[in-house]
Amino acid sequence: MTRRGGEQPSAYLRRLPIGRRLALGEVANSDLFPLEGEILVKPLEPPILPEPPRRGEPGGDPCPVCAGKLGNFVVWRDERWGLGIASEPSGLPMVAVLQPLAHHDLEDLPVELTGELGSMIQRVARAIGRLDAVGRVHVNRWGDGSQHFHLWFLARPKGMWQMRGAMLAVWDDLLPGVPEEEWHEARRLVAAAMAEEGGAVLVE
Ligand SMILES: [Zn+2]
Repeated sequence: MTRRGGEQPSAYLRRLPIGRRLALGEVANSDLFPLEGEILVKPLEPPILPEPPRRGEPGGDPCPVCAGKLGNFVVWRDERWGLGIASEPSGLPMVAVLQPLAHHDLEDLPVELTGELGSMIQRVARAIGRLDAVGRVHVNRWGDGSQHFHLWFLARPKGMWQMRGAMLAVWDDLLPGVPEEEWHEARRLVAAAMAEEGGAVLVE
């Protein structure tokens, strides 16, 4: 399987006006765009080929999951999966990460784990959705930082219709942090909700 293509710029890259700014266009007029005022799109930076190694890839930094460097990030786990929630509060009422305990990327996730993934996504979404403040749970896979497969769960605050859609990730950085005590209670509640169907709570 070709994972990154060759080192020659693709036809797509050759079309891009590298070094120039694209017009902001209708993006800024969207109800969902969180910023206003005079905003410029950053100039397009030159492509990097081959792309830099991610954490856990040959030549990259060690995988923090497999090196056991997550501290108290993992709040729940069973035999094959872990759910991580940062101990530092987010702006959103909950941000969580689902990952297999073993080192796989999405493309080489064993069939046993891919078979479980659907029900795990549903289970995490339900657990987070039980928090009072949560209106909807969005699921994202980016994976540009770490090779170890991880899915992001971002909770939209209930009632904040303005924050619907993909800009929720930006709102997370704009909103004031949830108070520490409330955040830790939310971590405990989500971990406990996960454990109702098995696995162990790892947060006090
Ligand atoms: Zn790993």
